[in-house]
Amino acid sequence: MPGYAYQRDGHPNADVLAEKCRQFHRADHATMTSSGQAAVSLALLSFLSAGDHVLLSSRLYGNTVRLFRDQAARFGITASETDVLDLEKVSNTMTGQTRMLVVETISNPTLRICDIAELARLAHQRNAKLLVDNTFASPVVCRPLELGADLVVESLTKIMNGHSDSVMGLLCGAGDDGQRINRTVRCWGMTSSPFDCWICERGLMTLHVRVSAACKTAMGVAQSLVGHPAIRQVDYPGLSTHPDHGLASRQFHGADHPMFGHIVTIHLKGGAQAAGKLIGGGGEFEIPYCTSLGGAETTLSHPCSSSHRSCTRQEQVAVGIDGGTIRLSIGLESPEYVVKSLVEGLHRLD
Ligand code: PLP
Repeated sequence: MPGYAYQRDGHPNADVLAEKCRQFHRADHATMTSSGQAAVSLALLSFLSAGDHVLLSSRLYGNTVRLFRDQAARFGITASETDVLDLEKVSNTMTGQTRMLVVETISNPTLRICDIAELARLAHQRNAKLLVDNTFASPVVCRPLELGADLVVESLTKIMNGHSDSVMGLLCGAGDDGQRINRTVRCWGMTSSPFDCWICERGLMTLHVRVSAACKTAMGVAQSLVGHPAIRQVDYPGLSTHPDHGLASRQFHGADHPMFGHIVTIHLKGGAQAAGKLIGGGGEFEIPYCTSLGGAETTLSHPCSSSHRSCTRQEQVAVGIDGGTIRLSIGLESPEYVVKSLVEGLHRLD
């Protein structure tokens, strides 16, 4: 095909998918990568050099922390962590060497929301870039570039593709960094596969309807579970009791109804024992365990033994989780089915 010589340097499937993703995020440039993790690595490799400092949200995906804290250190890049919900702390932790601030739109698993516009302002004051991992939101719920972010990462492995059948990532952004990023992705060999791009293109065709439906069901699930005798707390940014509900309402979109994401986190009163019993299933409780998220099927995970298993008990408490915390990734089943199944499962904890 004219213009394409070697798959690692680029292929039509990646270009078509990147253009669709660029439009979803209203970005100036977009690059596909072999995974969401590769997209985060691509941001690091494209923009950071020895002597630079990166400021990380203290609630980031574990592998992102390991990448910037452990791997980047080998190349002379330093990283520190701070609570990005506290803007004063962010301002005080940035140094003259800080070149990047890394945050997530919705944090895992307690679903805290950071103020992207304010963080962009603070980053730009110090000549640093704001990188936002938007995986838990998707561009249907939030477009960080419109709020001032410079770079956005999506793991397409999750709700962007939405069918749990590929691993893919996106790095997109504002401004004229596209060529620099494309040179880096080729040079470090992080290019996406044509088959996965093709699969994800199919997933994107239904992105709006899937995200919209999942968010609506998630809201119904969260509302139904508040006050359940087996549950200590329900975390969902759509609930007026959530500490970041006001910010989420301003920052997130919603064409027909407000959208606050497809993840709901519950904290069981019975701790790890109750969580084990719920995950064990049985009866009419049919929600399967899955460490990933964003598929068409509703699934649950147990952060203390999966995403946060390498954290100390103290670190788990600091992010607001314990053995009884269960993260629900709401899928495309009817809201009645999901609520009925959950209530059945919770009933068995009595
Ligand atoms: N960012 C977040 C928030 C994630 O949850 C994950 C994976 O779970 C990633 C990035 C990495 O994505 P991938 O699994 O596609 O490499």
